[in-house]
Parts: sequence; structure tokens; C-alpha cells
Amino acid sequence: MSEPRKLYVRSFGCQMNVYDAQRMTDTLAKEGYVETDTAEDADLVILNTCHIREKAAEKVYSELGRLRKSQEEAGRRQMVAVAGCVAQAEGAEIIKRARTVDLVVGPQSYHKLPELIAQAEQRGHNRRAGIVETEFPVEDKFDFLAHPTRAAIAKRGPTAFVTVQEGCDKFCTFCVVPYTRGAEVSRPLDKILDEVIRLADGGVREVTLIGQNVNAYHGLDVAGRTVGLPELVRRIAEVPGIARVRYTTSHPRDMDDELIAAHRDMPALMPYLHLPVQSGSNRILAAMNRKHDRELFFEIVDKVRAARPDIAFSSDFIVGFPGETDEDFADTMDLVERVGFASAFSFKYSSRPGTPAAGMDGQLPEDVKSARIYALQALLDKQKAAFDAACRGRRFDILLEKPGRFPGQLIGRSPYLQSVVVEAPREAIGRLASVVVREVSTKSLSGDIIGGEFFAGDAGVGVHSVRQSEKVEA
Ligand code: SAM
Ligand code: SF4
Repeated sequence: MSEPRKLYVRSFGCQMNVYDAQRMTDTLAKEGYVETDTAEDADLVILNTCHIREKAAEKVYSELGRLRKSQEEAGRRQMVAVAGCVAQAEGAEIIKRARTVDLVVGPQSYHKLPELIAQAEQRGHNRRAGIVETEFPVEDKFDFLAHPTRAAIAKRGPTAFVTVQEGCDKFCTFCVVPYTRGAEVSRPLDKILDEVIRLADGGVREVTLIGQNVNAYHGLDVAGRTVGLPELVRRIAEVPGIARVRYTTSHPRDMDDELIAAHRDMPALMPYLHLPVQSGSNRILAAMNRKHDRELFFEIVDKVRAARPDIAFSSDFIVGFPGETDEDFADTMDLVERVGFASAFSFKYSSRPGTPAAGMDGQLPEDVKSARIYALQALLDKQKAAFDAACRGRRFDILLEKPGRFPGQLIGRSPYLQSVVVEAPREAIGRLASVVVREVSTKSLSGDIIGGEFFAGDAGVGVHSVRQSEKVEA
């Protein structure tokens, strides 16, 4: 029997890329590829790139340069594929500039990987004949990508991402996503449910529904009826074994009353909402083409808090957008003060070729952007520390995910995605433990198990009927 071929996938960027990397690995596993931990050891290397990173394309070219050097040193040729949003944006330019690349494949064509790799192998290592596949095909790639085996699901642990929606029609002026991922498309309800049932069968307890604009989800059910995110969440929460559901990333514009009510009515929906606002200035929000203002954002926050009082928010911010004045930035700081975030991502604006903002007047110097991001992050860090500190003494359900640093320790996640260290045996991985938080540090919380499925002897207890977080009175 011939040796299995080895595959190494290096993924950058968002959760959608993590999910895509898994589906590429599953599809290639059917072709006889096994995963390996290092690029040097692999027969096929896939760089799954992200275009949101600053100087994204340049970073990919230097990564490819390193790969070529290590191939030369080892005197060995590997097949190299570039996937993801940089592949979509750069296309044939990658083959021209990086002669080590055999194949460039955009995110909508991953189902064609086996066929494209076979073509590349036939062409041999004639670099001038590299293959580029960046079309937006008519067929649904999800119908052709292989499902993970039960063993693969179990190896990945009790939490999983599931892409339910791809692309974006919002066209924020700073963002490349509508160009690299294409128009907004939702997967049909039954296909998503089928995937979640398989995941649950493999031991998954928590599903995060992902999409660039996930709360714009509008998939068809088997009767041809259009279904929104609230119904999708409800149906997934009903799958036996699934205890927790999350969704990300949402747009404020699509945060409707039905979805807000779902946070009140569905205990399995975790009380943690990532809702990017980008700026607190209405002038800048309009220039960003965000289609919402700060007032709408406050209104949503108030409504969600009324529906689910224990909810916590996270967000994305951009500072130094073209034309942003000190007053505009002060509005962002004011919004942060008023809302209070449990965590957040913040970025200095950086120009992306081909986006409207790249050509706007009023591009700001680096030192202004740096001073603003420093001030914003100091405030967000302070809020995060305060939120974490307030968790001391609280009781949470923790989903036990993996071994900790020391023997006898496991690490789980709180409803707010904080890492929580507890003492528990390995067999408890995949169970919900009821934990009282004892200590809080900058990186993690630690706590004591007081009950939960941990003691029930059966991981398949199903959806909890109680809220998964509450304050324990001293
Ligand atoms: N769809 C989401 C939304 O509506 O906010 C997220 C899209 S993007 C993958 C993640 C984050 O990257 C954005 O929310 C934004 O804060 C940041 N980002 C995108 N383009 C950027 C740019 N040109 N400069 C700086 N940050 C950027
Ligand atoms: Fe990009 Fe805006 Fe679409 Fe988010 S909503 S993916 S930031 S265009």
C-alpha cells in the first residue's frame, strides 16, 4: 500500500477561514490526505489567507518566500496552494509573483480542490502553468464538500463552527469582503440541520453559526419558505446533544425584534453578542456607509438588555478612518463609555485597494491613528477587566473543552467565552459543569465545580432548561 500523502493547512483570519480549513481537510481526507503539524513535513501545503489583515498580500508573498527557501534547503518539492480572500483578490498575480505556487483557489471553489490538485499534478512543476480558480460557480460548494468523519469531529472537540451564510451586500466603504466573498448567500435550513446533527453525533455540544453578516440569514426550508436566524437557532437548539448556540458576526441593521426576543426565549442562546459598531460618530458612520447611526446602536443595546439582562456585548472598532476628527473620535470613546463592553476588537484604519475609502480625502497620519487606538484600547481593556472582576462569585455553566496546563485540570468556556480553569478528569470533556468562579486573572478565570452534567454520568443530557449563568449571593 502506498504511504498516505500529508497535508498542512495554515489558516489566517476569521472563523469562516477556520471552518473552511476544516472542510478542505475533510474533502482531501477522502482523497487519502492525512493532516500533519508542520509545513516541512507536508506533500501539499495550503495557505488559507485573509485579506482583512494589514498588507495582507505582502504577508502572503513573504510566507511563500519562506516556504520556497525551506523547500530549497530540504531539496524537496511540495505542492503549494493559496486559498482564501487574498487568493480571490490577487488571482493570477500570485502565480506570476511566487513561482513556488501551483494552485490559486478562491473561497467559492473549495469543493473543486481534488480535481484542481489532480490537474496541477498532471502539469508537473511547470510554474508557468499554475492553475487559478477564482470564479463564483453556480453550484453550491457545500453540496460537494465532504463531511468530517466521526473521528475527525471528536478530535476537534465539543465546540464547532458552522457556516450558515456567506458574502455581504452591505458595502461598507473600508471593507473588501463584498469583493472577495461575493454577494450574500444563505444555506438552506435542512442542510445546516443535517450538518449539526452529524456534529452532535460526534460529540459537539456548542455550535457557533457563522457568516459575514450572519443575522441577515434568510435560508429556505424544505417547503420553500424563507426562514430567518431566530428560527434557525431554535431548530438547532432542539437537536439532541446541542446545549449552546452562538452566532457571529452580526450587523446592527439586521438586529430585528424577533432576534432580540430569541435572546429572551431561548436559554441555549448564549448571553453574549458580538455586534460591530466601528465608530461612535454619525458623520464617520455615514462615510463608512454603515447604514446605522449611534442612536440605533444604543436602541438595540437597550432592547437586548431588556430582553436578556445578563447579556454582555463585544464589538469591532476602527479608528483613524479618513476625515475622522478629534470630535468624531471623542464620540467613539463616549459610545464605549455608555455601552460598556465585555471585550472588543479594535483596528487602525488601513486602506484596502479597490475599496471606496482608499480613495477618500483626509487619510490620517500614522501617529494620529496610533494615539487614538492606544486610548481606545486602554478604555476597552479597563472595561474588560471590570467585567471579568464582576464574575468573581458568579455561578456559570462551563462547557469543558480541553486539558489544562497541569494534570487534573480542564479548561472550559463560560457563556461569555472566557476561559475557565477547573479541576476535573479528562472524561468530563464535552460536559457542562456548574462552576462558581473563585479567581480572576488577565488571561483566565478559575473556579470550583458544584454540579452539572459533570456528575450526571451522561454527556447526552440535552438542552438545559435553566439560564446558564446567575449571580451566587455571598
Ligand atoms: N461583517 C462584520 C461587520 O459587519 O462588522 C465584520 C467584517 S471584518 C471580517 C472584521 C473587522 O475588521 C471589521 O468589523 C472591521 O472592524 C475590521 N476591518 C475591516 N476592514 C478594515 C480596514 N480597511 N481597516 C481596518 N479595519 C478593518
Ligand atoms: Fe464588511 Fe460591512 Fe459587510 Fe461587515 S457589513 S462584511 S464590514 S461590508
